[in-house]
Amino acid sequence: MNDALPPLEGRIILDEIVPARAAWDHIVRRGETLRIVDLEGNQSADFLLYALHDDAERYSAQDTIAAQRNVYLTTGALLLSNEGNPMARLASTTVARHDTIGGACSCESNTLRYGHHTKSHHACVENFLQANARHGRGKRDMVSNINWFMNVPIEQDGNLGIVDGISAPGLHVDLLAEMDVIAVISNCPQINNPCNAFNPTPLRVMIAAPLRV
Ligand SMILES: [Zn+2]
Repeated sequence: MNDALPPLEGRIILDEIVPARAAWDHIVRRGETLRIVDLEGNQSADFLLYALHDDAERYSAQDTIAAQRNVYLTTGALLLSNEGNPMARLASTTVARHDTIGGACSCESNTLRYGHHTKSHHACVENFLQANARHGRGKRDMVSNINWFMNVPIEQDGNLGIVDGISAPGLHVDLLAEMDVIAVISNCPQINNPCNAFNPTPLRVMIAAPLRV
């Protein structure tokens, strides 16, 4: 698995596994690179960013999409905050594109889409709330998230599809932090649609610091 990954420049200061279905968060300082690896393929990594200095500033899907005039995230994409500031750059990815508009799954959306029997299924919104609660953030701090590795094509008629992924085992994203941020991941527990190939699997996360300090 390691052999398939391009080298991550800098000093590795974190290298850990996010178990299937779990929440994760960590500070990423400006100049550090956060790598997320889709270990087994087609695993959606739901993702939010908050500014460390003031978490009222956070990732904005609207600002990011409007500025780049594209709903997909590809190499070089700049993730903007709700104040229009660059938070992170997609420095490298081995997946063609990533989703900005599919949102996070929730118990409520599961019941609407898949039936009331799914109400008890663990969902990304609960993961985000769990991770954010450690920093005093609540439901009002939830915003539209990125879905790394998730394939949500816009169909000819304008509808969104949630279809088989275009990611594969060992593919990755590298995010270069443009400011000090708190990165939050929900390793999506969804089992009712193909975003995780109906089988939630672990992610690997790494953070590399620049060699010069
Ligand atoms: Zn989810």
